[in-house]
Amino acid sequence: MSKYDVAVIGSGPGGYVAAIRCAQLGMKTAIIEKYNTLGGTCLNVGCIPSKALLDSSHHYEQAIKHFEEHGIDIPGEVKINFKKMIERKASVVDQTTKGIDFLMNKNKIDVYTGMGSFKDATHIEIKGEKNETIEAANTIIATGSKPGTLPFITLDKERVITSTEALSLTEIPKHMVVVGGGVIGLELGQVYRRLGAEVSVVEYMDRIIPTMDKAQSKELTKVMKKQGVKFFLSHRVSGVERNGNEVIVTATDKKDKEVTFSGDYCLVSVGRRAYTDGLKAENAGVKITERGQVEVNDHLQSNVKNIYAIGDVVRGAMLAHKASEEGSFVAEVIAGQKPHINYNLIPGVVYTWPEVASVGKTEEQLIEAKVDYKSGQFPMRALGRSRASGDTDGFVKILSDAKTDEVLGAHMVGARAADLIAEMVVAMEFRASAEDIARMSHAHPTYAEAVKEAALAATDDRALHI
Ligand code: FAD
Ligand code: NAD
Repeated sequence: MSKYDVAVIGSGPGGYVAAIRCAQLGMKTAIIEKYNTLGGTCLNVGCIPSKALLDSSHHYEQAIKHFEEHGIDIPGEVKINFKKMIERKASVVDQTTKGIDFLMNKNKIDVYTGMGSFKDATHIEIKGEKNETIEAANTIIATGSKPGTLPFITLDKERVITSTEALSLTEIPKHMVVVGGGVIGLELGQVYRRLGAEVSVVEYMDRIIPTMDKAQSKELTKVMKKQGVKFFLSHRVSGVERNGNEVIVTATDKKDKEVTFSGDYCLVSVGRRAYTDGLKAENAGVKITERGQVEVNDHLQSNVKNIYAIGDVVRGAMLAHKASEEGSFVAEVIAGQKPHINYNLIPGVVYTWPEVASVGKTEEQLIEAKVDYKSGQFPMRALGRSRASGDTDGFVKILSDAKTDEVLGAHMVGARAADLIAEMVVAMEFRASAEDIARMSHAHPTYAEAVKEAALAATDDRALHI
């Protein structure tokens, strides 16, 4: 029987990063993945394929709506080759997952393909093409998550679908009814709207992306409405029925009135659930919470001392970069180091266009916590860079402590906000004040100048270009 210092179950951005870091720290490491390709949700049916389709559909939208204003005439009709678009997405996924094979090989990590389950706290059985058992002094559970649903919905995966199917459709829907105006609903809703589908987003809360700053919800709603997406807020979905090629979604509005939506596809995007099915955690005595997550302490250690868990399968944001940070963290804990993760500074991004990005506290959270704060906001449209590209929607908003000026949160909507937020993560990690950012030189003309201007506005209400 092969023996390892560490076995990692699951090869998503949590698991494969944990395995690499363990190997870097000199531990003999195995990784177990039930699917034939490595990379987990993120690389196979999450971050990467969704971004590939967002980019392809963005190019199409640019071509049909904006090329003309740039003085680019296209003789003839611009057409979508949807099959090719999906094939390109598949090839991006293929290249990316093969990159993980390369990394496992480079770091001399043994890869086992098959379903991993605990026999006891130090033995893992792998059921794949061949069945084998390995011994591991430490195990990291990185089994991720699966799409969640509502108790009354039957996901037939043909017409009533999750993000996984929405990334591999064979036709562009005529009318996609999206249940849930969170990250998945908005990213994939925008893809299909750009490709010509009618898209109706039915959201339970009174705003989309309800966990982000309210100003971001408002701005994204405005922009997506302009793009033709229809929003039905404060609507609680209570039924989804399929009738041949038609899907009927029933919801109750604020006044308790029943409303129905008829579409040819219904995308269910109401959150994801931690996944431990088939893991047989009970054989190792590992405690699973009522929400199905592996219970962990601050060291990401389960109640069984040599078993750790990271990523979507534990508490906290379900984000790839959070999972990866936890992967490195846990490897270093096992190696006896004292790593640290600042959970307040895990940025959140929605990759619509314009992009939405956030870090730190939202204005609503500061109000609730009764923190005395200042707010500085700067609109993208006031930037020369934005006018040059035509990307004038959005803003940067910086929230800082009223007394110390320390930045407490940054929230933005705009072109490349996903990249701009990195500056704020760095600034906040070093506990910068708004004035520190305001006094740093930002290259001109860039979208990043909006960060400087918002910092100036937060410092002393002294933005220069508005
Ligand atoms: P996962 O990536 O879910 O990986 C878990 C792996 O474990 C899977 O491969 C699974 O097959 C395997 N596994 C499970 N049980 C076993 C077992 N018993 N034996 C062997 N293998 C097992 N996050 C972002 O930060 N940015 C984004 O842009 C983004 N976009 C997304 C888009 C979509 C459509 C979706 C669905 C998610 C997106 N996410 C995004 C979220 C991101 O994918 C997850 O947060 C991330 O993948 C979690 O990583 P993980 O390693 O914890 O788990
Ligand atoms: P989500 O939690 O972002 O959004 C779910 C939405 O569904 C919420 O707004 C909620 O109010 C709504 N909802 C719940 N029940 C409802 C009902 N009965 N009727 C109407 N609306 C209802 O979840 P998601 O969009 O499914 O995404 C799942 C996870 O995947 C998220 O945690 C996210 O972090 C991750 N993800 C991240 C990215 C990214 O980082 N760009 C992209 C995609 C997914």
